[in-house]
Amino acid sequence: MSGLRIDILTLFPELFESMQTVSLLGQALRDGRMEIGVHNIRDFATGRHRVVDDTPYGGGDGMVLKCEPVVAAIESVRRPGGRVLVLSPRGRRLDQAVVQELSGESQLVLVCGRYAGFDERVLEHTGAEELSIGDYVLSGGEAAAWVVSEAVSRLVPGVLGNPDSARCDSFSGGLLEHPVYTRPPEFQGRQVPEELMTGNHAEIARFRRAQSIRITAARRPDLMARFEAELAERRDAEAERDRAVLSEVLDAKDRGDGTRSC
Ligand code: SAH
Repeated sequence: MSGLRIDILTLFPELFESMQTVSLLGQALRDGRMEIGVHNIRDFATGRHRVVDDTPYGGGDGMVLKCEPVVAAIESVRRPGGRVLVLSPRGRRLDQAVVQELSGESQLVLVCGRYAGFDERVLEHTGAEELSIGDYVLSGGEAAAWVVSEAVSRLVPGVLGNPDSARCDSFSGGLLEHPVYTRPPEFQGRQVPEELMTGNHAEIARFRRAQSIRITAARRPDLMARFEAELAERRDAEAERDRAVLSEVLDAKDRGDGTRSC
């Protein structure tokens, strides 16, 4: 049985052909861990010309996607318990916590807009939520639906070969990921940190954790504030080490060299 089904509603289904074949997502579909259906909204339009858009009431630029075909498309693919998400710059902003939440659903229906967007009554009638991938405007929801599909698929059980990879990714533990290296050990005079060459897994894990804290402190004060608040509550052995790294970072900042801490 498949863990998650994603149905994408779009006027340009051909944009998703390669998404379904490459990389982890393609493999997950072949293994049956996920299912993706891509549907053309135009197939749900009626009349000889299968019109999907019309001019806006009240004037203004761009064409508006009509209620009838979009609602018919949503109602045709939506399953009981399915969650309908209309991609829109006005929506709730996607982040890893939202991705986590969506990965637990049985079905996501991702509705891609074009032109000036949807007639507002599509949202009212279907109870769909709006989801944004960031504060910028795309020409269509397709790239956004691809982003959502890739991010969510990484968290579907069995999609990543090693489930620990997702646990260590940036944001998952509230921190950015540490830097990674591969062969050769020296490139143009730059060495791989010697801590990674010791073969001592506990030491390597501590080194990487400290690097994660440093890089997050240097780049993302917003994430760091949350990390510090959570750290104050933690009593585990790792918390002690995290506090030690944090106080070094703060000392370095006081000395004025905080930005070079990673
Ligand atoms: N006039 C609309 C934008 C229309 S852009 C507005 O300002 O709100 C056309 C389509 O691109 C939208 O319907 C939406 O599906 C998609 N889109 C654009 N930016 C997006 C974003 N940041 N996140 C998700 N979808 C986006």
